[in-house]
Amino acid sequence: MRPSWLRPAVLESLAEHNAALQKSADTEQDEAGFFVYDLDFLQQHLSMLMGQDVIKLWFAVKANPLSRVITTLAQQGFNFDVASQGELSQVLAQDVSAARILNTGPAKSKRQMKAFLSQGVRTFVVESLNQLQWLNQAASELSCQPQVLLRVQLQWSEGEKNPLGGNEVTPFGLSCQAWQTVKVSDFPALNINGLHIFQWGNMLSNERMFELWSQMVTPLLALAAQLDMTLEVLDLGGGLGVDYLQTGQELSWPSIVADLANIKAQAGVSELWLELGRFAVAEMGYYVTSVVDRKENFQHQQLVLAGGINHLMRPAITEQPFPVAMLRASTAKPDYFDLHGPLCTSLDKLGTVALAGDVDVDDQLIFGFAGAYGFTESMPFFLCHSIAAEYVLQQGKLEQVRRAQPAAWYLR
Ligand SMILES: *Cc1c(COP(=O)(O)O)cnc(C)c1O
Repeated sequence: MRPSWLRPAVLESLAEHNAALQKSADTEQDEAGFFVYDLDFLQQHLSMLMGQDVIKLWFAVKANPLSRVITTLAQQGFNFDVASQGELSQVLAQDVSAARILNTGPAKSKRQMKAFLSQGVRTFVVESLNQLQWLNQAASELSCQPQVLLRVQLQWSEGEKNPLGGNEVTPFGLSCQAWQTVKVSDFPALNINGLHIFQWGNMLSNERMFELWSQMVTPLLALAAQLDMTLEVLDLGGGLGVDYLQTGQELSWPSIVADLANIKAQAGVSELWLELGRFAVAEMGYYVTSVVDRKENFQHQQLVLAGGINHLMRPAITEQPFPVAMLRASTAKPDYFDLHGPLCTSLDKLGTVALAGDVDVDDQLIFGFAGAYGFTESMPFFLCHSIAAEYVLQQGKLEQVRRAQPAAWYLR
């Protein structure tokens, strides 16, 4: 049976594509593994997300910086959260105005912030006292007044109910205590009018998400009061999850909108922002690769694939497999298989998953939810395999956006 994440339009286009490839000499293009992004689906999904007036939406570019993905988001009215010069250049290159770009990230040097200002960026999430000083200096040198949100990291003292289930200290932002030393009036070149907080990932429960957000309001309002800041903007980052493990749990967007309307009122802010990564783009994307070998080893059914964590790293760091199916239809009884990639390290495993029992050499496997944290969150250079090709499906047509590249392309 076709899993729900595997859309018929994608299956059809891949079948046509495979048929066409068989007649051409270009088959090796796809052999190593490739990505397909269903932009028709993405467009519908984004228009659903934009159909509300509670939340201002930004796209966390790190989730998928492909030009055609950015263009689709821009057309639907998304703004862009960039964390490096490379991401900024890529968004600007798609003719997106700098006024729609926000800069976050712990590694902002004075030089970088000045360069971002020169390129027209006027919205910054500041993550350290140095960043605040440097940005103030750069803005006064360039005679502009960027909007600034301070990034806050909360901790819960021992014994208190900790909604995050851990108190890991990260480089993202600063504690309320550290921010309290700041006087907003000491930074006349900056319009400091917002707070940013984001310390959770892949949340799948509306109730838990709302509970978490609710607990942020009191400490953030207290901080704003201490800083003598008029709190106009609250940015709650990303972290809205997708159901990689197919547990049947899914976030309801209308509930999120209703919950955030509530948070917005509680915080008394005029703007509430989210920077979405995976919730915006994961579902539109697929990764396809083929089976190189099948064997039985100590009672494990093993499939060795042409592409593994060199193209799709996430399972190795999270131990969560992407959902997968065989591209060819089969009525064979399902069996469990260990999926291994081509790298000579035991890290290169994409999961233990159920597949039709007759899966064999040269069959293609298709992975879902690969639209976010796929192509660019991988380790493509190890062992000198090919860089994956990327295709988009738009108006029912499959188009190659970047060719697969052999190792000779980058080796010196
Ligand atoms: C990565 C990131 C996001 C997006 O996270 P998702 O969990 O993919 O939604 C949003 N904001 C910031 C600052 C990030 O670093």
